[in-house]
Parts: sequence; C-alpha cells; structure tokens
Amino acid sequence: MIGREAVTAKRKQYFYPCTQHFYRNSPQLVRGSMQYVYDENGKEYTDFFAGVSVVACGHCNPAITERTIHQLQQLQHTTTVYLTQPNADLAERLAKVLPGNLRRTFFVNSGSEANEGAMLLARLHTGRKGFIALESGLHGRTNLTMSVTGLPMWRTDKYLDEDVTFIRRPYDPDLTPEQAAERSLEDLKKVLEEKGESIATMIAEPIQGNGGMIMPELSYFRSVKPLLEHFGVLLIADEIQTGFGRTGAMFAMEHFGVVPDMITMAKALGNGVPVAAFAAGDEIASSLNTPSASTFGGNPVSAATALAVLDYIESERLPERAQQLGARLKEGLWDLQRRYPERIADVRGTGLMLGMELRGGNAADAAAFTDDVLEEMKDRGYLIGKNGVGRNVLAFQPPLVIVEQDIDGMLGALAHILVGA
Ligand code: PMP
Repeated sequence: MIGREAVTAKRKQYFYPCTQHFYRNSPQLVRGSMQYVYDENGKEYTDFFAGVSVVACGHCNPAITERTIHQLQQLQHTTTVYLTQPNADLAERLAKVLPGNLRRTFFVNSGSEANEGAMLLARLHTGRKGFIALESGLHGRTNLTMSVTGLPMWRTDKYLDEDVTFIRRPYDPDLTPEQAAERSLEDLKKVLEEKGESIATMIAEPIQGNGGMIMPELSYFRSVKPLLEHFGVLLIADEIQTGFGRTGAMFAMEHFGVVPDMITMAKALGNGVPVAAFAAGDEIASSLNTPSASTFGGNPVSAATALAVLDYIESERLPERAQQLGARLKEGLWDLQRRYPERIADVRGTGLMLGMELRGGNAADAAAFTDDVLEEMKDRGYLIGKNGVGRNVLAFQPPLVIVEQDIDGMLGALAHILVGA
C-alpha cells in the first residue's frame, strides 16, 4: 500500500483541481464492514455518512455481496436487447414498492442520469420545455440536472439550460415551517399563473439533502401537487438521497401522502454498486420515444445486487429501524442543542437523515467551526457529513444497520467537542 501522502499527491497531480475534500488530514479507507470503515493503519471509524446515503445496508454486507459475486461469475453483462432475468425481476420488484401507478422502470447508472431521463420524459410527455425547481436543491451534474440545481456550489454559472424558474424553498430560519411553506407555495402559484402552460415539470427532493436536510412542513407537497395538476405540470420526486428506507419510509414522499408523476432513484438501490432508475406510470412512460437501451443500465450484476438490497431492506425492516434509531439520534442532537444553543442553531430531518446546523460569529466562522468539528470527530473515529448553503450543517446519514451504541458513542464524542468549543 502506498500510504496517505502518496495518494494525496496523486490526487493533487492527476484529479481535476475542483475535487472536493472534507478533511485537512484525510484518512485513506481500505476496508469496510457494515457500519464501520478502516484506514490504512487499521483504525476503525463508525460511518455516519454512508457515502452520502449510499451504503444503507452497510459496507460489504455479505448478504448482498454474495449475490453480486455469484452474478459476476454467472453472466456479467449483455445489452438490454437480450433477455436476462435479474433486470426483469428488479423492475417487477420496484413496481411493488413504488407508490400508485408507478410501475414502469427505465434503468440507468447514476442519479444525474435518472433525473436527466425523467426531465426529458416530462418534456416529451407534456410538449413543454420549462422546469420549476427549488432553490438549494441538488439534482446532478449533467447539463439539464445542473440547470435545475439551485445550490450555488453545485452549478456552473454559465452555459446551463435557461428554461428553469427557481422558487423559494419551504424553509427559512426566521419563519415558522407553515409560513415558509406558504411563501414557497405563493412563489409556485405566481410562476404557474405567469407561464404554467410552458412548464413541463417541477423537480424536487422531498427532503433536501445537500441543501441542508430541509424537510418541508407536511402539508407542503400535498398543496404543490394539485396546483401543478391544475396547469398540467408534472411532479418529479428526486428520491435519490431519500429513497429506500432512510427517512423511515420506503420513499420520503410517503410522509407527505403524495404520489408524484415520476420518482428517480439511485444511491442506496445498489448499496455501492452503480444502479439508478426513473419510474413512471404507463401513460407517461409511453411518451419516451427513443429505444430503452443504456450500455450498463440494468446490467445483470447491478440488477442482482439491487434485488439483494431490496430483500435485505425488507427482511431487516430497515425503514422501521431508521425511524426508531433516527428518533434516538434526533433526541440526542436536540439534547446537545439545549445544552449548547450558542453553537447549535437547528436540528432537523427525519429517520436517519438528520442535520445539525452550527453557528459562529458570522457565516464564515460557522463554516470553519463545522470543518473543525468534522476533523475532530474523524480523529475520534466518527465520519460525519457536511452540507447546507453555508456549508455549516453536520449531516448524519449512517448505514441503516447502525446500533444504539454507535449513536450513543457518536453523541458522546460530539458533546466532548462542543463543551470545549
Ligand atoms: N439528486 C440528489 C438528491 C443527490 O443527492 C444526488 C447526488 N448527491 C444526485 C441527484 C446526483 O446523483 P449522482 O451523483 O449519482 O449522479
């Protein structure tokens, strides 16, 4: 093994300079086992980030990797023009877990590609070009998906699609959740009244991940949906970060009691193996007029893995687990907020998708303090995430297989840091 310094040097020399780093002193991870990862020196870290919600079933979970390996040894790849069983089984299985009439699935390889496909389909189906998106949302890094990404840090400021109208998000620290939702709905109404006939779809994360764990007030999407319907505008739920149990429901839109016109999914579906998809009902799906071929989309290895993931989520009842453990974690974070209000501005989210917004003298201080906390937590053996418009929100999105002791240990480490801060 070449060691941390040598890997860092290669990245510096050969990666694009924009490559992101969380840590001043980044560990080199060489092994993972369920909720734990290990660096080159054998140091154990409890993973409270799960590669941004990806390894929901745990790192190298044998119940899943055995089936991936078996498929790798049977048949690794063909094109979708041939019949193979894993992707047919997976499409059938997804139709069972997806809500409403969403029973058609198009397989692709990444979240960006799933959103891109869904957005194109919305245009083809409606014959309209426009998009509505929420400020501080993140939907990917292809041209269309970056165009609807509101978070400044995740978009270029040039060359993007211009048929996008952003509305304010249903969150504002100075407003109640109801007021913030109302304000966002007013923005939506205004856009629809002005140019509803030219809008194909609104795309939204039910709970914004990178935007800082923004969970709208529960009536929000229930009000959004009929407004859109009135103007013939579709709703795409980007469940790429929220899907497959993390929020305490299979899909986060369930919390709002809304069935969107399309759902996009990726990340946790493959538990680390690339697999993504966009789902729609019969009528909308029939508007896609190009052949459903993607070189790797729905390949046997990814499909067999995703089937194993769905089996595991079901047999281990991971959504319920996320709800129960999430409640314990949130209670602990709230307790820290009560004890350190001068450092903690807010705790939010649901299930095991939680955020803690940190404070400083000003925005730059808050972001620097967040970096300090991340670094020290890493040194204490806990990897947590960071997001938010101001990069000052700690993100807790662990594998859903964590246990109570992991949560209590992590909260204890965090308390130690905050007491000295
Ligand atoms: N949508 C959401 C909500 C995401 O969190 C992400 C990735 N962070 C994407 C889309 C893009 O997915 P990918 O990186 O797989 O293209």
